[in-house]
Amino acid sequence: MLRTLKCPVIALEEHYWDNELAARFVGAEGVRDPEMLKRLYDVGELRLSEMDEAGIDMQILSHGAPSAQKLTGTDAVDLTRRVNDRLQAVVAANPTRFAAFAALPTSDPKAAAAELERTTKLGFKGAMIHGLTNGVFLDDKRFWPIFERAQALDVPLYLHPSVPLPAVMDAYYKEYAKDFPMVVRAAWGYTVETATQAIRLVLGGVFDAYPRLKVVLGHLGETLPFLVWRVDHALARPGAKTLSFREAFCGHFYITTSGNFSNPALLCCVMEMGIDRILFAVDWPFVANKPAAQWMETVPLCDEDKIKILSGNAKHLFRM
Ligand code: MN
Repeated sequence: MLRTLKCPVIALEEHYWDNELAARFVGAEGVRDPEMLKRLYDVGELRLSEMDEAGIDMQILSHGAPSAQKLTGTDAVDLTRRVNDRLQAVVAANPTRFAAFAALPTSDPKAAAAELERTTKLGFKGAMIHGLTNGVFLDDKRFWPIFERAQALDVPLYLHPSVPLPAVMDAYYKEYAKDFPMVVRAAWGYTVETATQAIRLVLGGVFDAYPRLKVVLGHLGETLPFLVWRVDHALARPGAKTLSFREAFCGHFYITTSGNFSNPALLCCVMEMGIDRILFAVDWPFVANKPAAQWMETVPLCDEDKIKILSGNAKHLFRM
């Protein structure tokens, strides 16, 4: 609970690593900072103490990138099920402090849809998907069984970034990746990748097929709230199919504050999307809890709106 606002604080994009799943990509993902690794593998004391210091009541836990989307083998389904079962045990041990987004074995979309249903019945709040699956964007029709099931279960899908394809990394970032390793990731590459993923869902007609589907984006919407006017206007120029990007984006997407604690950016999101679609997140442990909570104390919004961001909207979205 924050000092100035007497309301619970629920943080939505808070990561951990599962030993078995992370072993598949450690090294490739470049997280080597021992302090970071210690926090990623901690689902107890250290995590809870840093939540307490910042006044965060609950984390909705999710596996860190790249999660199950990079699994290609025949064991992807069974491995992801074990990952989710272990996460379920973490939540069961601290049910007032933790909730969870499931990992999904998207390389087998039908199995991923079944896993979404199984985990939702266990109390998970939806699922998080990290970037492309075997190089394919999510709008590809092979993945639509996942959207169909998410709509039927009325749980959101959180689209999280992951590293871009090797060809993209090479063409866009190669010259600068060594001196600025984050340019491929949180500084810019992640944003381009995830905004593209979101735009493609709209262009592909996913929301026409599933009009009650809910999607969450982190990082204050991966630049899309800032660009919604321009994308909407430009897509509607002569020669295009009829489509309202604004309607699809503002009607189906929710955004979180993960790793983007900027007042001007937040106010832009409020103005374009409305206060009811913005939810609090930190992106722990990649971003520290305390500056996030301190920022929320000072954002230039009324208390009623801040309370919606800090937990009111989450309670509504997740029926908590
Ligand atoms: Mn994150």
